[in-house]
Amino acid sequence: MRVYLDNNATTIVDPQVFAEMEPFFVQKYGNPNSLHAFASETHQPLKQAMEKIYAGIHAPKEDSVVVTSCATESNNWVLKSIYFQYILTGRKNHIIISEVEHPSVIATAKFIESQGCRVTYLPINHEGLIDAQTVRDNITDKTALVSVMMANNETGGIFPVQEIGEICKENNVLFHTDAVQAIGKIPVDVQSFNVDYLTFSAHKFHGPKGVGALYIKKGRELLPLLHGGSQMGGYRSGTLNVAGIVGMGKAMEQAVDALDYEMTDIKEMRDAFEDELLKIEDTFVVTPREKRTPNTILISFRGIEGESMLWDLNCAGIGASTGSACASEDLESNPVMEAIGADADLAHTAIRFSLSRYTTQEELDYTLVIVKDAVKRLREISSSYAYAPEGHDSKL
Ligand code: PLP
Repeated sequence: MRVYLDNNATTIVDPQVFAEMEPFFVQKYGNPNSLHAFASETHQPLKQAMEKIYAGIHAPKEDSVVVTSCATESNNWVLKSIYFQYILTGRKNHIIISEVEHPSVIATAKFIESQGCRVTYLPINHEGLIDAQTVRDNITDKTALVSVMMANNETGGIFPVQEIGEICKENNVLFHTDAVQAIGKIPVDVQSFNVDYLTFSAHKFHGPKGVGALYIKKGRELLPLLHGGSQMGGYRSGTLNVAGIVGMGKAMEQAVDALDYEMTDIKEMRDAFEDELLKIEDTFVVTPREKRTPNTILISFRGIEGESMLWDLNCAGIGASTGSACASEDLESNPVMEAIGADADLAHTAIRFSLSRYTTQEELDYTLVIVKDAVKRLREISSSYAYAPEGHDSKL
């Protein structure tokens, strides 16, 4: 049996999404910017796709949604443009991000920090979440931007973006949120969240890879990251990815339609699976369920290296994740577990299971059997588990 439980990394392209994209490869392949019928036959599908994308995030018509190549590009774009517009010109000197943002935000923040911008990295609390108050405490009159994700890719933790948006508005600070892990899992509404910029990526909600977007509120214009032609109003040059945009539109429409199912049925399946996992001795989950996206579990099995567990799961046909990069001989620990202050043992033992609307009960039942076997096998050969103190109830 093959079981895919790594949906926070990427998702299967929905067959209906694929079907809508297909004609735009070998039949309707015109460049939308050309002046002939090959071009114009792409115009209506593009318009319809963009309407679905706007509707999916409740973006008003006057605001912009600019299609990019991925969320990494959208995140880079916001931070680099803020650097050029506000920091380099000396109008402001500071941005705020959380310490558990995706690397595409953290690495970009570090880059602009190396160019002279002050960057505050907000800590997460013991639940793996951000306290909105810490944003207020760190804003100064020189703060140009706050960038805090809507939901964390590792824990699924939902951050208080609505409150943060209000704090930013009160203080006249621009607010960007990376909503990559939120679309299709929790409601996303740019108007009620008070965001100026919002990032998302089609491949996280059953759309194709290589297409993402940045929502930009009217009046909060950015400098283009890619200069060139007049595509996307000159905001983002490069021939339009017609099939990708059509696919993202369809995927967004379906994500909205399936939201209730995600928030009820998938959550129920996730919770029941998690209950069973937690029956295994010495297991630990960071963020409370009600404060997480409905599909995600980040769980530590004390005494078992995450990579060893992945190996056993992989051998049984199950795809999951540790959320950490494996660098040469050094096994890095999960960055969120580190940020929360988990001890080294726990930080190295985190496994992420992320479900989707394609996940079945049969797959979870099978995974549970394999996990239990793996825990038994790996703890028998684990030196750290054998030496762990008795009854370690304080796991942090
Ligand atoms: N932001 C978050 C929260 C993510 O989880 C990811 C992907 O894992 C990204 C950004 C990057 O997305 P993309 O692959 O579209 O660049």
